[in-house]
Amino acid sequence: MIPMDLNWIAKVLGVKITPKEINIINIINKAVTNINTDTRTITSNEVFLALKGPNFDGHKFVHQAINQGAVAVIVEKDVLAELDETQVVQFIVDNTQTALGLLASAVKDEVSPKTIAITGSVGKTTVKEMTASILGLNAKVLSTKGNFNNEIGVPLTLLRLEQDDEYAVIELGANHLNEIAYTCNLVKPDVATICNVAAAHLEGFGDIDGVATAKGEIFSGLDASGIAVLNYDSEYHDFWFNTLNTNKVLRFSTLSKKDVWAENITFDHFGRAKFTLCSKNETSLVQLKLPGKHNIKNALTASALTLALNIPLEQIATGLSQIQEVKGRVNLIELTDVITIIDDSYNANVQSVKAGIDLLKQIDGYKVLALGDMGELGENELQYHEEVGRYAQSQGINLFYTLGALSEVACNAFNKNNPLHQKSRHFTQRTELLTQISRDLCDYQKDSNEKITILVKGSRSAAMELLVQDIIKNK
Ligand code: ATP
Ligand code: MG
Repeated sequence: MIPMDLNWIAKVLGVKITPKEINIINIINKAVTNINTDTRTITSNEVFLALKGPNFDGHKFVHQAINQGAVAVIVEKDVLAELDETQVVQFIVDNTQTALGLLASAVKDEVSPKTIAITGSVGKTTVKEMTASILGLNAKVLSTKGNFNNEIGVPLTLLRLEQDDEYAVIELGANHLNEIAYTCNLVKPDVATICNVAAAHLEGFGDIDGVATAKGEIFSGLDASGIAVLNYDSEYHDFWFNTLNTNKVLRFSTLSKKDVWAENITFDHFGRAKFTLCSKNETSLVQLKLPGKHNIKNALTASALTLALNIPLEQIATGLSQIQEVKGRVNLIELTDVITIIDDSYNANVQSVKAGIDLLKQIDGYKVLALGDMGELGENELQYHEEVGRYAQSQGINLFYTLGALSEVACNAFNKNNPLHQKSRHFTQRTELLTQISRDLCDYQKDSNEKITILVKGSRSAAMELLVQDIIKNK
């Protein structure tokens, strides 16, 4: 965080420190170490900002925050009078979430790093990690931690900026319209991209056109000096292009030679790509540690984002080659000489399940998919489960396990007109699925010398990482 004191906060929020509080003169100019919305982590000399949501109210925790050392609170009502508290400064604002945004925006303006904003339906976090890895090779970079990508997470991320950060790489997520317009306005990016759009978070958007419109809000946050990085392969390319306020555009593609592309692609046994990264003037060799063709797309997105900031292609290739795995995204776990698990349990939607199936198809040997439910897919959720079941069958998955209420439909679709007689089993309990997997793996190893790869995937709500942990424990 940048150095700040209560006077600065008062100025940013447009709130006067009242005479009673001016008496606490010793803390007015004292450095504040953090603006914190979570009393579980609050420590001395921090400011507590009380957020309100549908299921919680931070105002109930003001007392606790003060006990833990908060020197000031940002609230929507006079909580200190209720608590009879006189040694703490109170900023009363109309809306604490807006106050959080104002503070974040002020910090961003003070530090003024070159800023990249990333949205899309799948791959945001992976692209963010790749971009930060490239820039981090010779500069200090702030990037979104985990998935802090919503109206609260984005301002909290900006508040973490430090004076010497040269770049900020910020992930913007959305589950409703205007969310990205809001967060992007705080971030004010120099470069922005939409990785792709797919059937994800449909509950908030209706259909994929709705997703494309919502994601498109990221480009409205770019002014005439900003650079838009466009996915040339997306059917929404022209739609987004026509909304731009800037004429500075860089395009990436896996199908055409635009501003950045990949050539001479080869894969190792686990589907990790090696390729020549090409821009109009240069080429450089990349060896990805992350498997899957989809990670070539992600790498090209990160390349275009950093090329937009004039990073040399050789540095881009080095940053891409160095990035280690991103937890829960196609993590290779070699359980035994014969069995490999691909832990892709972090999340799932139609596009990312298909990307996982494509990866399995590429790997030699017996292919097993364990799929949990895909959440937040709106009224056509069953149709989407049917689609991935059919796709798994058509791509030659040998054994298909499903877990949860919705994915039974995927299991049934897999079994329909099944000319290769691939096997499938549906479960409602994880423990039963685990028992079955253990038994099947044992039997299979007795009968065959072939290697086995098990892809484990499902939405966050399906918590399929627990199955991965169980399989490892049961080894
Ligand atoms: P979230 O919306 O949950 O924040 P995200 O957009 O940040 O997701 P990641 O966390 O990078 O995306 O990846 C989520 C899932 O999508 C993982 O299973 C990953 O393997 C898969 N994935 C990542 N990139 C792509 C891609 N370009 N195409 C298809 N699937 C992808
Ligand atoms: Mg993410």
